[in-house]
Amino acid sequence: MSLKVSKRRPLVAQSEIRNMSIECAKAKGINLAQGVCDLPVPDAVRQGAQEAMDRGINTYTRFDGRWELRKAVAEKQGRFTGLDIDPEGQVVVSAGATGAFYSACLALLDEGDEVVVFEPYYGYHIVTMASLGIKPRYVTLEPPHWSFTTKALEDAVTSRTRAIILNTPSNPAGKVFNREEMSVIADFAEAHDLFVFTDEIYEHFVFDGLKHISPATLPGMGRRTITISGLSKVFSITGWRLGYAICDPEWALPIGHFSDLVYVCAPAPLQIGAANGLATLGPDYYQAISDDHQQKRDLFCNTLKEIDLTPHVPEGAYYTLADISSLPGETAKERALYLLQQTGVPCVPGSAFFHGPEGETLARFCFAKEMPVLEDAMNRLRRLSS
Ligand code: PLP
Repeated sequence: MSLKVSKRRPLVAQSEIRNMSIECAKAKGINLAQGVCDLPVPDAVRQGAQEAMDRGINTYTRFDGRWELRKAVAEKQGRFTGLDIDPEGQVVVSAGATGAFYSACLALLDEGDEVVVFEPYYGYHIVTMASLGIKPRYVTLEPPHWSFTTKALEDAVTSRTRAIILNTPSNPAGKVFNREEMSVIADFAEAHDLFVFTDEIYEHFVFDGLKHISPATLPGMGRRTITISGLSKVFSITGWRLGYAICDPEWALPIGHFSDLVYVCAPAPLQIGAANGLATLGPDYYQAISDDHQQKRDLFCNTLKEIDLTPHVPEGAYYTLADISSLPGETAKERALYLLQQTGVPCVPGSAFFHGPEGETLARFCFAKEMPVLEDAMNRLRRLSS
């Protein structure tokens, strides 16, 4: 018998993040490894979905999503960025930001293409591309400000480069790209005629008065930018699988067709719930969760400092990368397992976010937890120094 799995199978072996969650369950620990926000779902979103089910909105939707959600996404994007988005051709609703990104890669990139990626990176971006035979070209962000140079970007380009990926605010570093950096990226994309894929799933979690900048708002960037975001994080509905791409209609149509091929559609009544949330929740709602995450960031980073796991204090999103080199072990994974054994708190080994050895002294913690859970986790971590 010569049956076998595909060549791409090894790419999707259990991720470090899921591995640590399994270890966490075994140790009955408090999971700060997975980026699951356990805050309550807003009433407008939950009730909107329930009412939609009761009204019989339970069947397939149009390939690019329900009109109500496309319209709500376009209007909200307009409110926050000033861009004029046409809901009838520029918005594609998909199965999470993950579905939107995969569909965009299927629609716009070919096997053998290369894409510039900043590291530390979000692993799904890399593996999604690798599964399609697309090669990442890494540009390393240098701490403490996770900065990069124009030279590093230029060094990463070859004749096969077709796109650059941006994630702002970023997972895992919490970097918020500023306007100057964004202009450098815009000039670079223009000079090399690249698509800009931008994952803005944490767009509303930006701290210390910093501003989130959407690359699509920079002069000349509208046509080449594929803006990807979703509702998982902002409405705490990671299991609902709702996200979207916003872009030029010429790209939106094929992205929508691939999303249809892979997912058919995102859950119809849940789209209505999300539309209801987007249409009714104002800037105060977004500010309040951002403030909540900022307060938790401060508490959590202070705890890490106390126990000598120096954090890179994030500017946005809800993770912190911390220096775990003081823990026993040769690799980030060994150190993370030691921490789990000693405290019952799992984190993600930094090696999950770098292609080279830079991550071996780092670990990522997610602080988007209900306050009592976070307090319990911080108390457990303090055991390290006692
Ligand atoms: N993009 C980034 C950068 C993430 O960190 C995550 C989740 O952790 C996602 C996308 C997943 O988003 P979704 O649930 O909308 O697929």
